[in-house]
Amino acid sequence: MTDAAAGNGPDDLYGRLAVHVGQIAAAGGEGRDPVNEPMIRHWCEATGHAVPADGSAPATMLQVWTMAGLSGHTAGTARAGAYDDVLTLLDDAGYTSVVATDCEQEYLRPLRPGDRITYDAVIESISPRKTTKLGTGHFVTTRMDVRANGELSGTHRFRILKYAPAATRKPTAEATRPRPVVNRDNAAYWEGLERHELLIQRCSGCGTLRLPWLPGCNACGSPDWDTVAASGESEPSSATSSCTIRRSPPSTRRTRSPSSSWRRACASSATSRECRTTRSARGCP
Ligand SMILES: [Zn+2]
Repeated sequence: MTDAAAGNGPDDLYGRLAVHVGQIAAAGGEGRDPVNEPMIRHWCEATGHAVPADGSAPATMLQVWTMAGLSGHTAGTARAGAYDDVLTLLDDAGYTSVVATDCEQEYLRPLRPGDRITYDAVIESISPRKTTKLGTGHFVTTRMDVRANGELSGTHRFRILKYAPAATRKPTAEATRPRPVVNRDNAAYWEGLERHELLIQRCSGCGTLRLPWLPGCNACGSPDWDTVAASGESEPSSATSSCTIRRSPPSTRRTRSPSSSWRRACASSATSRECRTTRSARGCP
């Protein structure tokens, strides 16, 4: 990357970025659904909070009502050209990676079932070149104004870092696989693996075995359990009974790692003679 491209020379990248500050990033956006009780309930269940007594949406759901979902906005994304111009300038200067760094929200009025959501967004600021642990780049901040039935109900300020990675490390075999998600419901499972034991949960109420681990028994509802260690032996005739290869649609992101794979395979197989389970499978075409 040249000094000019980095923002230090006469062809000042930062200057060319800064002219976009104050320009429209999205205009005339419409929420896919009005504020509604099922989405409020699902959010509250996922976050472990009670639905507000007055039936309004938790304030932190503000951005939810503007999201497109997997199938996209039926009326378009409302994204304006200025935001794409900023991203293109950064891509062309070598800042091809992106990470969302933080967001801030302000709440002006509760959202209630039936409210119709519209939104606009503006490019609020672009930072001079910064160097972080991830790499060197520019922070781009947008501010979305969210309206309910035309009345401003909150603002959502969203910041990304577009950057050139600090160093390219060749991914190791471990780095290509996600880290395990350890929580209070499955910690003993992972502790067992550290001892080279594959532990299967056994319901204290009805004796049903289960793997992967769950907080309660699907058969009788009991939350009580103990474990049995898999013997490591399986019946020769019951190894793999089915195999599914899932192919995800192409990413809609502007950039992604060329090494990322969108193909996953899973197989139903006999983990041990005690238990059959569905697992990721390696070596599938
Ligand atoms: Zn049970």
